[in-house]
Amino acid sequence: MEKWTLKKSAECFNCKTIAEQIIEIYANQAFVKCSNCGATRYYILRRVGIEDEDIINEEKNRKHKYEPWFLEKTTICFNCKKEAVQDIVITETKMIVRCRNCGFTRVYQFHILEV
Ligand SMILES: [Zn+2]
Ligand SMILES: [Zn+2]
Repeated sequence: MEKWTLKKSAECFNCKTIAEQIIEIYANQAFVKCSNCGATRYYILRRVGIEDEDIINEEKNRKHKYEPWFLEKTTICFNCKKEAVQDIVITETKMIVRCRNCGFTRVYQFHILEV
């Protein structure tokens, strides 16, 4: 699988400045790196499966310590191989990627922070 790269301007959890955060998603792991200070959060694939959209909505409704990010990327799905919107949720504890077409979901768990 080709990696997905996304960018989001947000307050860095480490240096506390508004800076571009670079998100790289691979099949088995994912990273969020601050373009200002270089602090990187590593996430590791925990499970895959078909989920309904509740898995995304739950994160929207839950109270978080840090504001979660909700991103979308239209790309070829890992599973159904069709071009479809992929919902991406990034929180301090996990990252969720879900295909709106087939429901295929990858859940990554936060692993370490490197500063
Ligand atoms: Zn930073
Ligand atoms: Zn799909």
